[in-house]
Amino acid sequence: MKILILNAGSSSLKFQLMETDSRRIAAKGMVERIGIEGSVIKQTAGDKIYKNEQPMKDHDEAIAAMMRALTHTELGALKDMGEIAAVGHRVLHGGEKFSASVIINEAVIEAIRENIPLGPLHNPANLMGILACRRIMPDTPQVAVFDTSFHQTMPKKAYLYGIPTEYYKRLKIRRYGFHGTSHRYVSARVCQFLGINPIGTRIITCHLGNGSSLAAVVDGKCVDTSMGLTPLEGVLMGTRSGSLDPAVVQFIANSEGLTCDAVLDILNKKSGLIGVSGVSSDMRDIDAAADSGNEDAIVARDMLAYSIKKYIGAYAAAMGGVDVLVFTAGIGENNWALRRRVMEDMEWLGVKMDFSKNDCLRAQECVISADDSRVKVVVIPTDEEMVIASDTLELVHCIDKNTDADYNDPRFRLG
Ligand code: AMP
Repeated sequence: MKILILNAGSSSLKFQLMETDSRRIAAKGMVERIGIEGSVIKQTAGDKIYKNEQPMKDHDEAIAAMMRALTHTELGALKDMGEIAAVGHRVLHGGEKFSASVIINEAVIEAIRENIPLGPLHNPANLMGILACRRIMPDTPQVAVFDTSFHQTMPKKAYLYGIPTEYYKRLKIRRYGFHGTSHRYVSARVCQFLGINPIGTRIITCHLGNGSSLAAVVDGKCVDTSMGLTPLEGVLMGTRSGSLDPAVVQFIANSEGLTCDAVLDILNKKSGLIGVSGVSSDMRDIDAAADSGNEDAIVARDMLAYSIKKYIGAYAAAMGGVDVLVFTAGIGENNWALRRRVMEDMEWLGVKMDFSKNDCLRAQECVISADDSRVKVVVIPTDEEMVIASDTLELVHCIDKNTDADYNDPRFRLG
C-alpha cells in the first residue's frame, strides 16, 4: 500500500511516498518558495531526480506540481494518484483536543483551526496542505498526526505553569511539548530493540537536532517533556534560547526599545548555538570552530551538553530513576562527541558507558553503555515518517472512509 506523507510549511511542502509493506520510500521531495518568486519542486525517486522551476502561487498549485512529479512518466514513482491509499499530514499543534492521530473530517479541521493561536506559524500552513489535498484528492482519506499528542498523558503537575489558573482555563496556557512522533517512536522502538517490556520501564528520550527536546516516558506514556507552550522552552537549541528567566524579555525590550514580539523573534531565531557562538546554528560548525579554539563556540558547546545533563537529572528524579536513555535526531544520532560530553561523569545515575561503542557511532541503532550498566544508553535513529505512515494506515484500515470519525473515539487512541 502507498501512503503519501506531507509536511506543509508556510512557503514549503515536504513530501514522501512510502510503500508500507516494504517500508521503502518510493519518492521524496520538496516544494520551496510557494507564493514567492522562484518556486521550485525537487523530487528523488530511487536514482531518478526531477526538478522543475515554475510559478506556484499557493498550496493547491504546489500539490498539483507534486502530483505531476510523482506521476511523471520517466522520473516519477506512480502511474496515477489513485494508487495513493491515504495521505498522512504532520500537524504541529493539536492543543488538548488530540491525544492520538485522527482521520481528518470537518470537526478535525475546525479543531486545527481553533489551535492556530497556539501554533501561529505552523498550524495555518498545515491546514493549507490539508485543504489543498481535500480539494485535489477528495476521495483519498487523510489523517492528521500531531507533534503534541504523545505528550497529552502528562499529569497536571508537569504541564501547568505556576501562573494564575485562569490563564490555563481561559487561554489554555500550559506545557504541550513537541517532537511527539519522534519521542513516541524511539521510546517504543528502544524497548523492541532491547527486548524489554515498556510497562514498568522508565525512559528518557533525547531528541537533539536543530530543535531539541527531552521526554520522560513511563509505561510507554509521556510524563514530562522539556518544550512548553511553544518549542522555545527547554534545552539550548540551534537558534532558540531554551528556558530562561521571563524577565529577560522585559529587560531586553525596555533596554533596546523593542516590542515583546521582536524579543521573542530574537529568542526563537537568533539565540541558542548561533546566538552564543556567533558562528552557526549547526553543531558541525560549532564543533569545527570550538576545535580550532573559538572560545564562544566552546562555551556554546558546553552549554548545550550541560543543559541536556540537567534535564536528564531532573527527569531521573521525577521518575524515581531511569532504566533507558535514548539519543536521537541529527545531533543525538551523529554527534558522538556531544553524547560523550553529556554522558561523562553520570555513574551516580547508574550509567556505565562504553565509549568504545559510542565514539564514532553515527545514525545506527546501538547500545553505547557497557554490558553491565544498570541504565542502558542507546542510539535509535528517529523515523517520524514511519509513525505518520503507520498511523495513517492503521486509521484507514480501522474505519470506513465515508464515516465521519470522532476524534475522541477510543479506537483512535494508540496503544
Ligand atoms: P535535525 O534538526 O535533526 O536535522 O538536526 C540538525 C543538527 O544535527 C545540526 O546541528 C547538525 O550539525 C547535526 N547533524 C545532522 N546530520 C549530521 C551528521 N551526519 N553528522 C554530524 N552532525 C549532524
